[in-house]
Amino acid sequence: MKIFNDNSCSWINDLDPRSNIKVFEKNNEECEWLIVGAGYTGLSAARKLGQLYSNQKIFLVDAQLAGEGASSRNSGYLVDTTLNDGFTTNKELDNYKKKADIYKLGIETVQKFIKEYQVDCDWNECGKYFASSKQEDRKILENFSNTLSKLGFEHNLLSNEELKKRLGTNFYNIALHTKGGILLHPGKLVRAMIDTLPENVILYENSSLLDWKKKNDTVICKFKNGSIKTKKIIFATNGFLKSLGIKSNYNFPITLTASMTRSLSDEEFISLGEPKEWGVLPVRPMGATIRMTKDRRILIRNTAEVYNPYQMSKTELNKRSLKQKIGIKKRFPELPNDIIQSSWSGIVSRTRNSSQIFEKIDNNIFVAGCYNGSGIGVGTLFGEQIAIKASNENTKEIETIEARSKPTWLPPDPILSIAIKTRLIYERFKAKSEI
Ligand SMILES: Cc1cc2nc3c(=O)[nH]c(=O)nc-3n(C[C@H](O)[C@H](O)[C@H](O)COP(=O)(O)OP(=O)(O)OC[C@H]3O[C@@H](n4cnc5c(N)ncnc54)[C@H](O)[C@@H]3O)c2cc1C
Repeated sequence: MKIFNDNSCSWINDLDPRSNIKVFEKNNEECEWLIVGAGYTGLSAARKLGQLYSNQKIFLVDAQLAGEGASSRNSGYLVDTTLNDGFTTNKELDNYKKKADIYKLGIETVQKFIKEYQVDCDWNECGKYFASSKQEDRKILENFSNTLSKLGFEHNLLSNEELKKRLGTNFYNIALHTKGGILLHPGKLVRAMIDTLPENVILYENSSLLDWKKKNDTVICKFKNGSIKTKKIIFATNGFLKSLGIKSNYNFPITLTASMTRSLSDEEFISLGEPKEWGVLPVRPMGATIRMTKDRRILIRNTAEVYNPYQMSKTELNKRSLKQKIGIKKRFPELPNDIIQSSWSGIVSRTRNSSQIFEKIDNNIFVAGCYNGSGIGVGTLFGEQIAIKASNENTKEIETIEARSKPTWLPPDPILSIAIKTRLIYERFKAKSEI
């Protein structure tokens, strides 16, 4: 499978291009550990293994440049909570708490990494808003507020006037602000993970795993220009798990697109009331995620779709970009029409019940992924912990991860694709004004 890099993600283009890219080209190579996928999950797994096994051969491979998948292409919300519209039973509340416990560990894992390596990734503990233009969404936010109060998360409800002051737009009528949660530059974070890989981890890029099979106690992996026999393998390919035949009936890929404006001029920024950096998440699942960055750029993501094949053509991307232009115009009518600087797509993985995958699927095969759109912290955590699990060790973190229910079964295609497409159309309709 060929993975396409549209080279138009602002977060990636903010960084210096990398050099010394190694492509895997050798037949019958052998190693103790092979990690497939070099996003937050794979990089974090490789780091941990590098620390645990300084004398072993550890390979990390990626089909494109490391970190240039969803890990650089996301909106940069390191979340502590996700929206729900209230629970009627204690069991549901308990499930939500288990999910939030994982988010908390995810934040701590990223925080530890950043402290240890003095990483600058525009970290801002400014919390986040769940906002809507529709007064009728107040009920959802009040129910959510109830859940957050029960679990001790600091938050407050805000209305139009206050939101106008804080966000510089009159669009939103109601919002819930959670104090926890961080905004960051996802490209800078993942680049730091690449730059600080332990020396004994060998990174191969532009090296797609084409096929794999288990043979006795090893796994044989085929690449375009060679093959690797590994004792243990960790799959960290997230949105591409299904394409490699991993847990195929438990996850499915979804394509998202986002756009970023240029930096606003002084005059434009003053016209919005000079707001501080902020991040808004939608109340309706298909509504827009929108963010004002610390350098005065506006990011918007307002599409989510089943899009096969993985390569989104320039023409298709331009159509999504147009929707994002409209989304920005709705919220900031005073800004010029042509301020979008770039648009890009990215692939994430979803499960039916929003649980993540963290599993030993055979005695030497491990998989971590499916973060349902919240993988910055959880991916970093899961990468580290799957490496520990693959070393036959246990931790408190693994117990917390495994306390959550596993992903539930999904029907095969084409039933699955039809069901997801129908659901997305319905959600899009419900979120119409919020896109
Ligand atoms: C537009 C967008 C907005 C998002 N917003 C947020 C957000 O605000 N907050 C948040 O927490 N999450 C967000 N996400 C989700 C988040 O980016 C992902 O959950 C996270 O990046 C997953 O990390 P990962 O390392 O598991 O996967 P990825 O970063 O996708 O890495 C997987 C890697 O595997 C490689 N690969 C795939 N197949 C092969 C193969 N056959 N051989 C070799 N390599 C292969 C890919 O090239 C890729 O680099 C967003 C995602 C997108 C696209």
